[in-house]
Amino acid sequence: MRQESSKLKNKQKIRILKNPRLRKIRYELRTLLTLEYKKRMKELNKNPDTSLNYDERKKKLKIILKDREKLKLTFHRSPISCWVCGDRMNDLIQDLDSLFWFCVNCHQDFRFY
Ligand SMILES: [Zn+2]
Repeated sequence: MRQESSKLKNKQKIRILKNPRLRKIRYELRTLLTLEYKKRMKELNKNPDTSLNYDERKKKLKIILKDREKLKLTFHRSPISCWVCGDRMNDLIQDLDSLFWFCVNCHQDFRFY
């Protein structure tokens, strides 16, 4: 197993995995995590109980929005997929300012300043 992690001088972290079998396993794990993320987001997108009164619904919606934002940030700040194109196969680079992960191609085009 060969995995390299290095910190580049312009605030990036990159994870490189060269073994093709390990890359496939990593891809499968990333796919599972992505499916779980989508499932949870779908659950959070359901409308709150219609039997609640207006204030209770408003309160519940606020909680749901907060949970969605938290889940979204956790997902995109984990090395699962590229924040821009969603690629799960290739090595990812983390932007240490935003903490989001990018594939090499998207990272060259998109940077936080
Ligand atoms: Zn990408």
